Amino acid sequence: MKSALITPEEADALLRKIVRPARAVDFPLAETYGLTLREPIVADRDLPPYDRVMMDGYALRHTDGTNPLKVQAKQLAGEPPLTLSGEPGYAIEVMTGSMLPHGADCVVPYEATQREGEHIKMLPGEAYQPGQYIHRKGLDCAAGRVQVEPGARLGPVEIAMAASCGYACLRVSQPPRVSVFSTGDELVPIEAQPAAHQVRRSNGQAMTSALAAWGYRGSELGHLSDEVEKSRLLLDTAISQSDVVVLSGGVSMGALDWIPEALDRLGTRLFHGVSQRPGKPMGAWTTDGGCMVFALPGNPVSSLVGVYRYVLPYLRARSGVAYDLAVRQLPLAEPWQPLSDKTLYLPVTLNSQGEAVPKPTRNSGDFAGLLGTTGFVVLDKGEDMVEAGTKVLFVPWNP
Ligand code: AMP
Ligand code: MG
Repeated sequence: MKSALITPEEADALLRKIVRPARAVDFPLAETYGLTLREPIVADRDLPPYDRVMMDGYALRHTDGTNPLKVQAKQLAGEPPLTLSGEPGYAIEVMTGSMLPHGADCVVPYEATQREGEHIKMLPGEAYQPGQYIHRKGLDCAAGRVQVEPGARLGPVEIAMAASCGYACLRVSQPPRVSVFSTGDELVPIEAQPAAHQVRRSNGQAMTSALAAWGYRGSELGHLSDEVEKSRLLLDTAISQSDVVVLSGGVSMGALDWIPEALDRLGTRLFHGVSQRPGKPMGAWTTDGGCMVFALPGNPVSSLVGVYRYVLPYLRARSGVAYDLAVRQLPLAEPWQPLSDKTLYLPVTLNSQGEAVPKPTRNSGDFAGLLGTTGFVVLDKGEDMVEAGTKVLFVPWNP
């Protein structure tokens, strides 16, 4: 069955409509990096939780004009607060991270003092303002406040906040089981010495790395030969064991492009053929078991762009985040002629002004031409030149 081309936006609309959020599950905090949060992270206490000393030195009353001051005691971090003598002329030695002793209202660092036995003297010219070097209780955040909203992707900062608020586990979107396959008998394993008519399998590595870069680690990586019956069985098994299957190759019009017909037997065609370059022959299929299959062309630039343009937005939506391209708008560094009948995905580098500098590949097989690029921009179809400075959507290879 041959279908008419749809636009990338129509493909987005179909995917957006069909995607269902993954189950929410509890994961140990240490395993949540890159996952999507499904509960709010709430501060269980003020941050900081007490008036926190910010420098190693001495805590005192700023009104205490007496000089020298007698060092009354030592306040260590991790100990309950001491109380500064009510008499004038006293200081308590304090450590960074310790509680401010009761009665003190400023901290003077060692560097501003001179110690003589039990006494300290302020060095000339050193002022002591009330509140100096004190990180006040609750200044950063009040207890009970939502610090991270559901839907956030968990990075080091969010995870640190969760730890500090006492979350040993976090409720996150169940990570998808993703299977990635290359197809085609011309492809040999990386370790093999290819014959003159063979090439090594690189697409699978590129695609699984792209997924990992955006938090989807641990994809299964396999290969389907052009032996149709055998491969269809393998594909069927993968579909039954995965939430998402990504295929590269075998979706065009070639004699051995058996994928679309096989997928029509295993599932339901959502679309096949998108008015875009690269990646026109791509398609997407759904299955009764709820697996989503993306079939991308085998040309290395097409399959990689396809992962960024469709697979990652779908996975994000499945994680419970809005379906989006994770794009930014960037000005184009030089004018570029768009295509009159299709959307163009144009690889770019970024210059020091943060503009997108086109670095087109020779064709969609020119994987080497992607080296040194930062991502691609999206140029909608049109007759008129896109002028330098025009803001265009930029999709980065890395977050
Ligand atoms: P296809 O879409 O199967 O017609 O493949 C298009 C082109 O991409 C052919 O030149 C293939 O050899 C090449 N190709 C397909 N899959 C891969 C892969 N996994 N790694 C490298 N090149 C590939
Ligand atoms: Mg092929």
